[in-house]
Amino acid sequence: MFLQKTLRKRVSVQGNGLHSGKPCSLTFVPAPANSGVHFVRSDMPGRPSVKVEAASVSATGYATTLSGPAFSISTVEHCLSALSALRVDNLFVELDGPEIPICDGSAKDFLQAIQSVGLIEQEQPRKYCYITQPLYFSEGDKQAYVVPYHGLRLTVTIDFPHPKIGREKLDLDVNEVSFAREIAPARTFGFLKDIEELQKRGLALGGSLDNAIGLDDLEILNPEGLRFPDEFVRHKALDALGDLVTLSMPMMGHLVLYKAGHDIMNKLVRKIISTPECYKLVELGADVTDEARFRSGL
Ligand SMILES: [Zn+2]
Repeated sequence: MFLQKTLRKRVSVQGNGLHSGKPCSLTFVPAPANSGVHFVRSDMPGRPSVKVEAASVSATGYATTLSGPAFSISTVEHCLSALSALRVDNLFVELDGPEIPICDGSAKDFLQAIQSVGLIEQEQPRKYCYITQPLYFSEGDKQAYVVPYHGLRLTVTIDFPHPKIGREKLDLDVNEVSFAREIAPARTFGFLKDIEELQKRGLALGGSLDNAIGLDDLEILNPEGLRFPDEFVRHKALDALGDLVTLSMPMMGHLVLYKAGHDIMNKLVRKIISTPECYKLVELGADVTDEARFRSGL
């Protein structure tokens, strides 16, 4: 039987906030079995917290924002993607302010922090959301669906009308090895005209070519170029894995996305939760084959 996991001990990640541009830090703190993942504002009186679940998602423009009683936290998806890929079930993510360090715009620092302390198994069995029937969601030309699959597989297609992006597709089984190699280093990206607009509104003041791929109408602005020829779709896969944590349990299934961002992911996750006939909650154990273990990082 596969048991729930948390971190072996606490570990911090330092950086700057994307919006404020000011230093901030995040600390991953081990949590008891059956807790789930929570963000905690350790700088606020009473240390308020919010659980990572679909109902806590309050905004999905540019990034996923979670809201608690009197605060919100934006751009949660990059650190959550590392938790998703490593199947971390229980964790407190303590923040010393309203922002998560943007780091280099990828999930690399979060992954390395977790790997530096390692995971431990807990007393309780892990329950998987095992997709048993296809479920489809679309809005305009954006599509998202899940189909049964013995593992966690991701197929992501993007299509941006930009000469350096265009149509890109990624298809892979998600486990710690594939995540570390294929997804975690992929940086977020932004278009110069959008960033200028955000900065006029006092947002993204910390945004720079040190923490994003910048594009004008024709070119990539970063002198160092791309980390992968298809870094854009890899980052969309990273975002989707992060958003998948709002399901509040690890998924066994194949997630297929076409031009889908945070908004579509949130709607898909809500639809899965409200369609109990499309999944069952299962504990996995000795019946899992070696192939499935490899595919899903069990
Ligand atoms: Zn992102």
